Amino acid sequence: MLLKNQPLGDLNTFGLRVHAREFSRVSELDQLRRLRDDGHLESDSLLILGGGSNVLFTGDYDGLVLKNDLKGMEILAEDAESILLRVRAGEVWHQLVLHCVERGWGGIENLSLIPGQVGAAPMQNIGAYGVELRDVFHSLRAFELDSGEVREFSHSDCEFGYRESVFKKSLKGKFIILSIDIRLQKNPVLNTSYGAISQTLEDMGIQDPDIADLSRAVIHIRSSKLPDPAELGNAGSFFKNPVIPDNEFEQIKSAHPEVPSYPAGEGFTKVPAGWLIEQAGWKGKRMGEVGMHARQALVLVNYGHASGNELWEHARRVQASVLEQFGIELSPEVNVY
Ligand code: FAD
Ligand code: NAP
Repeated sequence: MLLKNQPLGDLNTFGLRVHAREFSRVSELDQLRRLRDDGHLESDSLLILGGGSNVLFTGDYDGLVLKNDLKGMEILAEDAESILLRVRAGEVWHQLVLHCVERGWGGIENLSLIPGQVGAAPMQNIGAYGVELRDVFHSLRAFELDSGEVREFSHSDCEFGYRESVFKKSLKGKFIILSIDIRLQKNPVLNTSYGAISQTLEDMGIQDPDIADLSRAVIHIRSSKLPDPAELGNAGSFFKNPVIPDNEFEQIKSAHPEVPSYPAGEGFTKVPAGWLIEQAGWKGKRMGEVGMHARQALVLVNYGHASGNELWEHARRVQASVLEQFGIELSPEVNVY
């Protein structure tokens, strides 16, 4: 049954008090089939919602919102080295990480404490601390709105990129991801090279870390740096870190020798968007109910009573000033509706 005019305030991490014209929770594939047979699954007015941690509603949603409640996981294959795990899309990502860490299955410990559900993880190939979903991804199953069929996508079918996949590009709005299969390692090689991880492990007095230590270190860094959406509405990084041609980067570097940067494939350099936003004067600056966070300038925050439009207008202001100052057009990472 479809509910009318349902509040979404508790279902998006910006805490926006918007409504969905129609709403339903989905816990079985058959429900999707029935909704489609009854003509409810039109791709241009349908939004499948996970944890709502990567969406910005600029107003009420004039269509059907389906809240993903597809739960469960199972081991598909196991040998001395690895586990192939199938996880349904409505599972909470961080609970999955903890489940795997507890059992010594390595590969996603660097992705600890990322909010949201498993089904959204392939959407933008979630990543943090030098690891991305694609590093453990095997395949996924998704419900095609046009045909009503369940299709399997291999690793290459997903066209993963930096915070990108085919589901954000050519197949946007055409599939509902039902489950993902990931391969985890029983004797994992740890990735501790990124940013503050090795220093944090040292501070924790750990010399020979295992995946549980690494997960704890990531949780510690994230909790001390990122605003908790339960206290301050946000959707994590609002923009992607721009990847620009080396010659453009050299121009920025000649004017700002201190600019941080990372190699991003031959001929390209990644510049942290947070640094650009800070240089443009937005870090920690509050305008009414909105602003870019004081500890991480890439995080757009709702101080309590902002509307989605106010947040979006602020994002556009920040985007315009970075463009003016550096000639770089920041692309939103968050999905704007
Ligand atoms: P939602 O916000 O519900 O949905 C996001 C998009 O995916 C929407 O377009 C939605 O329609 C679509 N979608 C969701 N589920 C499905 C499905 N089953 N099938 C098809 N489409 C679907 N992201 C990172 O990559 N790395 C980080 O380190 C990180 N840190 C964050 C920290 C904070 C504090 C916050 C608030 C966010 C952070 N994010 C990060 C962003 C976010 O958590 C991830 O993008 C996450 O995967 C979103 O999951 P969700 O279930 O909340 O997705
Ligand atoms: P940080 O460590 O302060 O670094 C700032 C930026 O520089 C990051 O965005 C990161 O890019 C890049 N960077 C740092 N060290 C790098 C390295 N060794 N190699 C390549 N790139 C490097 O970043 P932070 O804000 O605290 O976030 C830490 C991690 O969590 C990052 O991976 C970030 O992506 C992730 N995170 C993501 C979100 C989100 O919503 N998407 C929110 C919070 C944190 P990358 O982003 O490419 O890693």
